Amino acid sequence: MNTYKLLTPGPLTTTATVKEAMMIDHCTWDDDYKRITQDIRKDLLGFAHVSETEYTTILMQGSGSFGVESVISTVIPKDGCLLLLSNGAYGERIYKMCCYHHIDCMHMRFAYDEIPDPIKVEEVLKINPQITHIAMIHSETTSGILNDIASIGKLSHQYKKIMIVDAMSSFGAIDIKMKEWYIDFLISSANKCIQGVPGFSFIIANRDKLKYCKDQARTLSLDLYDQWVTMEKDGKWRYTSPTHVVLAFSKAIQELKEEGGVYARHQRYQHNMNLLIQNFEQLGFTLYVDKANQGPIIATFLYPEGKNFDFHEMYQYIKARGYAIYPGKLTDKETFRIGVIGEIYEEDIQKLSRIMKEYMERKG
Ligand SMILES: *Cc1c(COP(=O)(O)O)cnc(C)c1O
Repeated sequence: MNTYKLLTPGPLTTTATVKEAMMIDHCTWDDDYKRITQDIRKDLLGFAHVSETEYTTILMQGSGSFGVESVISTVIPKDGCLLLLSNGAYGERIYKMCCYHHIDCMHMRFAYDEIPDPIKVEEVLKINPQITHIAMIHSETTSGILNDIASIGKLSHQYKKIMIVDAMSSFGAIDIKMKEWYIDFLISSANKCIQGVPGFSFIIANRDKLKYCKDQARTLSLDLYDQWVTMEKDGKWRYTSPTHVVLAFSKAIQELKEEGGVYARHQRYQHNMNLLIQNFEQLGFTLYVDKANQGPIIATFLYPEGKNFDFHEMYQYIKARGYAIYPGKLTDKETFRIGVIGEIYEEDIQKLSRIMKEYMERKG
């Protein structure tokens, strides 16, 4: 039994039924198991509004970062150049991957509370024809800001680049029109908005763009192309797959559909977020990101003027009352974060707000 619910950006609170799905030890070369893999791959294409003739899904062992690194280290050729737009720690992580793999990277850094500006991006694209790929984060979990991927996707198409999007903490809860927005490679993972458990990531790829990635990978285990070729044959994973996690994910997909799909999940998370912001503002906290750019996944709060609670103490107080919150990730400001994704509902937000109010009253 859970002693607390997670108000974190993943792993997150899952249903009892998703956890129960892991009670089976499945054989990996069995036809039933391979069919589950194939069904998952198909369902994910559906959530991205793309067809199986033009796009394909690759499942990759490891957490979300493994999926991102698989794409970064496979799809950019030796003579390629990546334009990276970053405004948070996950963007910085992609930069680090480029350094490890000696990938030529033009890094455009934006402030953590600022959305990558298409006008500035276009200026860079105009004078740097050597750029072959563009990468950016959709929901930057560092702050909770929601970046505008559609307008950058449009530029990517216009300038004939290949577009890579880390949609880790948004896919499944924010509608993404992959083809309309010209996204070629999209990465997310099992333990975020689809509400599975941690253990693998997935990549939705444009088949035409993926075709050119043969023999380009800089590592064996994370070779996206090779993983795809094996999986495409009959649903077999190249190396040992996280069978229990796959079963849980299959159940989580079914539950997402039962809830009403991406739209319904978005409604629930957005409602949680609106209520959280309203309640916390009343308590004197300030949202770090401008409301116009705030996503429905996670919120960063600044402490009330003149107050600076000890995060660890506050965390312990809230945890003892049933919820785990998240520390801030900004380098220049004292903040904390609250995620509203997973099996979290209005009553949880109300309860958390009461606990917070109580804690503040105690602290005077
Ligand atoms: C969670 C997350 C990742 C992956 O992080 P892991 O710790 O590897 O799961 C990558 N990008 C974003 C935006 C995320 O929220």
